[in-house]
Amino acid sequence: ESLDKGLAKTKESFLSKIGKAVAGKSKVDEEVLDELEEILIGSDVGVQTTLKIIGRIEDRVARDKYLSSSELERILREEIASLLEENNSADLSDFHIPTDKKPYVIMVVGVNGVGKTTTIGKLSAQLKKKGHSIVLGAADTFRAAAVDQLKLWGERVGVPVVAHGMNTDPSAVAYDAVKTGVESLADVVIIDTAGRLHTKVNLMNELTKIKRVIQKFVPDAPHEVLLVLDGSTGQNAAIQAKEFTKATEVTALAITKLDGTAKGGVVIGISDEFKIPVKYIGVGERVDDLQVFNKHEFVDSLFK
Ligand code: GDP
Repeated sequence: ESLDKGLAKTKESFLSKIGKAVAGKSKVDEEVLDELEEILIGSDVGVQTTLKIIGRIEDRVARDKYLSSSELERILREEIASLLEENNSADLSDFHIPTDKKPYVIMVVGVNGVGKTTTIGKLSAQLKKKGHSIVLGAADTFRAAAVDQLKLWGERVGVPVVAHGMNTDPSAVAYDAVKTGVESLADVVIIDTAGRLHTKVNLMNELTKIKRVIQKFVPDAPHEVLLVLDGSTGQNAAIQAKEFTKATEVTALAITKLDGTAKGGVVIGISDEFKIPVKYIGVGERVDDLQVFNKHEFVDSLFK
């Protein structure tokens, strides 16, 4: 229900535009496909993924010789579902942490303002609710506000936050957080890292150093590198995904702020372009508004 509400704007703009594109037309022709292309790009699906979707619909039109315009919505839905299927093999419907890694270490990356801290807070709350013990590491030491905010979430949710002073070495904080996690037999350690993108080399060095340092304690850590992207920035989110995937191996995505934007198509484009599963989506400011991404529910919400 909160997913439907969260995606309402994307859906509204998407479906009403498709309705207009096919209005008064009996079949899907070149003109309809051109308009559909514009609609998809306008919903921030991204050019590459849009062309892929259009190409697949063209193939179907060519194969079946004739496609009634009333069927366009269904066909589009099938093609989007199949794209999401290809890149999100796991069918998660609940917050889940593998139990064979203890602690399971999640390194969270993303630029400032995308909702990184909020996502960590919400995720901690959800995991705690499932009975997991958690340690947070405030390794975003470049902004006092980031550390304070994480501490606030820690208090709110009731999980310990490992923090050092401002401008201290992020990898030292990460080291302490993982050490605390190991010693206290925590199930999960979540490390908030600084989101500076001003030089790629810096970012890469910093993330590499954090990894190297935490591997002294947990050799196969981090088990997950979660990139947080602000869905309401549309193609900017795609650009950030490109930068971060160059700097480090990103294993999962969280796409936030899908509520209040019509750019929700970005979820489809980014998951297709980067072949990285979308694990969480943010559809509001409440704790429950961080949801485990479920491709079927997502497509259902988009076309309901
Ligand atoms: P950070 O700088 O990346 O750590 O970003 P914050 O976690 O501080 O979030 C920035 C702002 O975005 C805050 O006001 C959050 O409440 C808000 N925010 C985060 N996720 C969502 C979301 O899914 N929906 C909405 N509407 N706001 C969000």
